[in-house]
Amino acid sequence: MKHENIKNQDAKVYEIIKKEEARREDTLEMIPSENHTSPAVLEALSSILSDKYAEGYPGKRYYGGNEHIDEIEALCQERAKKLFGVPFVNVQGYSGSPANMAVYFALLNPGDKIMGMSLTAGGHLTHGWKVNFSGTYYDSVFYEVDEETGLIDYEKVEEIAEREKPKLIFAGATSYSRLIDFKRFREIADKVGAYLCADISHISGLVISKEHPDPAPYVHIITTTTHKTLRGPRGALIMVTESGLKKDESLPEKINRAVFPGLQGGPHENQIAAIAVCLKETMSPSFAEYGRKVVSNCRKLGEELKKRDFNIVSGGTNNHLLLIDLRNKGISGKKAQELLERAGITLNKNAIPFDPNPPAEPSGIRMGTPAITTRGMGEEEMTKIASFISRVITEQSTETADKVREEVKEMCNKFPMSK
Ligand SMILES: *Cc1c(COP(=O)(O)O)cnc(C)c1O
Repeated sequence: MKHENIKNQDAKVYEIIKKEEARREDTLEMIPSENHTSPAVLEALSSILSDKYAEGYPGKRYYGGNEHIDEIEALCQERAKKLFGVPFVNVQGYSGSPANMAVYFALLNPGDKIMGMSLTAGGHLTHGWKVNFSGTYYDSVFYEVDEETGLIDYEKVEEIAEREKPKLIFAGATSYSRLIDFKRFREIADKVGAYLCADISHISGLVISKEHPDPAPYVHIITTTTHKTLRGPRGALIMVTESGLKKDESLPEKINRAVFPGLQGGPHENQIAAIAVCLKETMSPSFAEYGRKVVSNCRKLGEELKKRDFNIVSGGTNNHLLLIDLRNKGISGKKAQELLERAGITLNKNAIPFDPNPPAEPSGIRMGTPAITTRGMGEEEMTKIASFISRVITEQSTETADKVREEVKEMCNKFPMSK
């Protein structure tokens, strides 16, 4: 994008955008929840659809002048339903956290019991964590991963569910590198009569490209962000499945009312248009190929790191991310993140399951391949990246980090970003 108008009337903002363009051009974006959107998605985001107030839903708006807004929102809904094979979707969620909030608000009363994966095991803040609304207004209980294997222990999940009888169970994670067994979760939810929500924010792009099992046949509700592996604008989808309708035919109405007027005001129709554009992109065969490459790149990166004596939590990956336990390397996650950032590799410090160290200085780092795969990188680059990471972590010196930064830049510049 040229940003000519910003350039002419607001030099300060223009300059910051240019600096950010240069940063991402020259560095490796390996935060697993990030991706790079297409120019078409960005065009939709910056379209005039941003201006319109459209409180309500297609055909039932509180303001006039919405005939074309209705068309764009209905188109987005149709595409999402087709793509995920569900009978209902709400496309107005501003982002993943508000979308999850809408699920709580639709189904529960304050103080009701919910169950999610604990944050330290790889779950998300909105699955009941203390400092989040979900742990403040609801009574939350957690399941963990097995300390030995790093995998979800479904027997334990069942045990906790039967003891605690939650009304709502969340299946989904932000730092779990293995497949999630939604069928097993459903058996557990049915035993205690709970609603089951799959939060596939991280993996929705992999579900679409059939690299991760589909939750739709098993869960009642699916939430997802649209900006992670799905590669769209920031935003969210809240879906009700066929089996959700069977459990409670008023679920769509409950979800819609929770989003508006329950929690949000006017929908961001420019964002909804951008989600529609993203969904069309994900329907193409090249997106299925993208999903395959994200996963094969991640597997390759994991194998190469293992060769360099890195400990991967759960021993490997079946998806787009890796969680590394750095304790054998004599460096904290925080220090590793800082040194790697200096070396032009952006990833994040992360707690490992049962981390003996405090959250501010966790023992791990988390990294993923969605953005670098969008950029066109393949297995050859994964080997190089593993070697960059290994040099920085082993030598732990700013000189090495600065040297690696030059090599990272050289590699990145072979994969130019669209501007
Ligand atoms: C990212 C994420 C969210 C929240 O999305 P935001 O857009 O950051 O609010 C919710 N759940 C899971 C599992 C996520 O990974």
